[in-house]
Amino acid sequence: MTNQEHRVALVTGSTSGIGAAIAKRLAQEGLTVALHSKSSVSTGVALANELGCASYTQADLAKEGDVRRLIERVVEAHGRLDILVNNAGITEVIPHASLKEATAEIWRKLCEVNVIAPWLLIGEAETVLRQSAKAGRSSCIVNISSHAGVRPKGASIPYAVSKAALNHMTKLLAVSLGPVIRVNAIAPGLVDTPMTESWEEAHELWRNRSPMRRAAKPEDIAELVAMIVRSDYLTGEVLVADGGLNLI
Ligand code: NAD
Repeated sequence: MTNQEHRVALVTGSTSGIGAAIAKRLAQEGLTVALHSKSSVSTGVALANELGCASYTQADLAKEGDVRRLIERVVEAHGRLDILVNNAGITEVIPHASLKEATAEIWRKLCEVNVIAPWLLIGEAETVLRQSAKAGRSSCIVNISSHAGVRPKGASIPYAVSKAALNHMTKLLAVSLGPVIRVNAIAPGLVDTPMTESWEEAHELWRNRSPMRRAAKPEDIAELVAMIVRSDYLTGEVLVADGGLNLI
C-alpha cells in the first residue's frame, strides 16, 4: 500500500484491455477506482465488486450529456476525484495511401471519441480535481494516446492524427492547469489487447525488430500510469512506450 489512500481515480474504458489493467494496478496502489465503459455493463459491475471500494458507470463518451453524467456519478459515488485516466479510444484500420477510404464520417467519429471526449471530460472534472488538490497534492490527468501520434505510423491516418491532437492537448493543458493539475500522456506502441489480436504483421514487427522483441502487455502500460500518478513533479510529458521500436 502506498500513500494513495482516499484518493479516487476514474479510468475510462476500463472493462477491457489496457483500461482494465490500469484499473487493477491503481487499485493495488490503494486508490479507489471508478470504472467506466460504453457497454459491457455486467463486466464492469463484476470488476467493481472484485476490486472492492470501486464503482462502475456506463456512458457513451461521444454524447456530451453522458460525459457530464459520468463525472457527476463518480463524485456522487466517491465524494471526490483526484486522477482522471482518459483511456477510452477507438481505431479504424485503413491503409495510409487509401485516401478515399478515410471518409469524413470516420474522421468525425475518431475525433469525437479520441479528442473531443477527453477534452470534455477534463473540462467537466476540472472543478473537482482542483478541489481535491487543496488537500496538498496536485491532481493528475493521464491521457492514453499512441506512438502513432508521435511518428508517421499507425492503423490509419485519422487515428494517428487524433492521437497527435491528444498529445498536443496534453502539453497545452499541462501549461494552463499547473501546478494544481498535472497532465501527462502515455503513447504505447503495439499492446496485446482484443483490439490488436488479429494484427499479425504488427506483432511480427515487434517480435523481430523492437529492442524488447515483443508487444507490450496491458500491465506494462498500467505500470507506467501508476508511476505517473506517484510522480508529483512530472507534467507535460508524452511517454513513448513502444519497446524501443522508434529507435530503429
Ligand atoms: P479496447 O477496445 O479493449 O478498449 C477501448 C475502451 O474504450 C473500451 O472499454 C470501450 O468501452 C471504450 N470506448 C470506445 N468507444 C467509446 C465511447 N464512444 N464511449 C465510451 N467508451 C468508449 O482497446 P485497448 O487496446 O485497450 O485501447 C485502450 C486505449 O489505448 C485506446 O485509447 C487506444 O487507442 C490506445 N492504444 C492501444 C494500443 C494497442 O495496441 N492496443 C496501442 C496504442 C494506443
